[in-house]
Amino acid sequence: MVSAPSGAGKTTLVERIRQSPNLFYSVSCTTRAPRAGEIDGEDYQFLSDTDFSERTDKGDFLEHAQVHGDRYGTLREPVVTNLKSGRNVLIDIDTQGAAVIRNCGDPLIRDALADVFLMPPDLEELRKRLVNRGTETVEQIDSRLATAAREMEHWRDYRYTIISGSIEEDLRRFRQIMEAEGYLSRRLIEK
Ligand code: 5GP
Repeated sequence: MVSAPSGAGKTTLVERIRQSPNLFYSVSCTTRAPRAGEIDGEDYQFLSDTDFSERTDKGDFLEHAQVHGDRYGTLREPVVTNLKSGRNVLIDIDTQGAAVIRNCGDPLIRDALADVFLMPPDLEELRKRLVNRGTETVEQIDSRLATAAREMEHWRDYRYTIISGSIEEDLRRFRQIMEAEGYLSRRLIEK
């Protein structure tokens, strides 16, 4: 499970990690409009508000939360199915959703869990990255920075924190964490 304030470089990191062998990326549902280049079913499942509510009522989500004024949710079924077949599952999630998953009662998920917070070096750097990305208005950037400041207070809740550097550095550190997690004695016992 990986969390980061928007603009911290998480999307690029996640895109690269997604290419790892034996790894399933959990495609979230969202009511947010697709950004240029985003593909339905690959980046997100883009849902209307009504459809999102229906899926919530059916209990399809492991967790769901309101982030930056839109709704986001992690689908339960694909996560469980892939964990059961021995694949690593990567979940991109905000700090509220991460807290729900951390307290999840399902032992399959609890035992599989490793959480990583990707920490931007500072808020000024984050503003620069968001401005360079050019996908948000000035108001949206201000709102995302305010959320970022709040989210950055949660880094201590995560087992790992990576202070974001270059994409290659972030990628190397994330892979090292994945590798080390694989050596946990309890994971060998569970196999
Ligand atoms: P973005 O709109 O920039 O793709 O994502 C905004 C935020 O929503 C990010 O912090 C991202 O981690 C979070 N997010 C993405 N998918 C989910 C999800 O399924 N559940 C929750 N709680 N947050 C999500």
